[in-house]
Amino acid sequence: MSDIAFIGLGHMGLPMARNLLKAGYRLRVHDLVRSAVDELAAEGATSATDAREAVAGTAVVITMLPASRHVEGLLLGEDGLLQAIAPGSLVLECSTIAPESARKVHAEARARGIDLLDAPVSGGTAGAAAGTLTFMVGGEAAALERARPIFEAMGKNIFHAGPDGAGQVAKVCNNQVLAVQMIATAESMALGVANGLDPAVLAEIMRQSSGGNWVLERYNPWPGVMPNAPASREYEGGFMAELMAKDLGLAQETAQNSLSSTPMGALALQLYRLLLKQGQGRKDFSVVQKLFVE
Ligand code: NAD
Repeated sequence: MSDIAFIGLGHMGLPMARNLLKAGYRLRVHDLVRSAVDELAAEGATSATDAREAVAGTAVVITMLPASRHVEGLLLGEDGLLQAIAPGSLVLECSTIAPESARKVHAEARARGIDLLDAPVSGGTAGAAAGTLTFMVGGEAAALERARPIFEAMGKNIFHAGPDGAGQVAKVCNNQVLAVQMIATAESMALGVANGLDPAVLAEIMRQSSGGNWVLERYNPWPGVMPNAPASREYEGGFMAELMAKDLGLAQETAQNSLSSTPMGALALQLYRLLLKQGQGRKDFSVVQKLFVE
């Protein structure tokens, strides 16, 4: 199997890269944080001191970085990494970024003869570790077929969302629904408890009724209702509120570009910004429950 360069070994990138190693791929890895590189090197990856060294001589590059500015900063421009990647290579850009940024990166890659896919993921750190991520892919269908075995080593569901940037559009739509469901569930839990209901009883009634949703199934925000949910461990671990705020901001930017009306997403963004102001940004996004209790 060919070498893969993997750049960005954070909460998501590290376990994703580990699954590629397990599947038998040879990896050349880089991150600004040395300890993450060393951790994977100890498991068989080749460490690279910078991104250019990582991509030298590889035909496949994966990036998993925080936000648009990191991706554009790394890949674009005269000194950008796309200039150092050989024409004909495959680049899988898996970060969650603005669809507009993704389209810029696609355009520059295409001009260099590189097959690039925007391929944001859903499934969180647990899905990354278990190799069960959902990939939402934007770009050419032929490039996706080329990439499919690599995605399959890290994920379970691989969707072709559409052309350049479509993966990012699907991702912001999904996360907007998730945020709104989380907030609606949190306010209803607080309403029921304030009116004398047992939170576990209320959670089960709603789960089995027409209010049932993914949050009630897997991620109840009320502490103690689900022993394995972040709410039951002081909202530690899981998906950080500041990342949800970032994704809701991307949804609003995307809505602005298409003049779409997204009032629920707008309100969700404002509530998550409030949480960030209250110093809760690094807690799991179910910490929104705290806005509704004394
Ligand atoms: P993270 O901050 O933990 O990891 C990002 C890594 O990129 C860091 O280790 C950082 O050092 C590295 N990095 C930044 N700039 C770099 C550069 N120029 N060169 C090399 N390395 C660089 O973030 P994460 O939680 O792993 O998330 C990554 C992406 O996946 C984000 O876009 C996020 O929105 C998305 N995402 C996260 C989750 C989640 O549950 N954490 C779920 C789905 C999607």
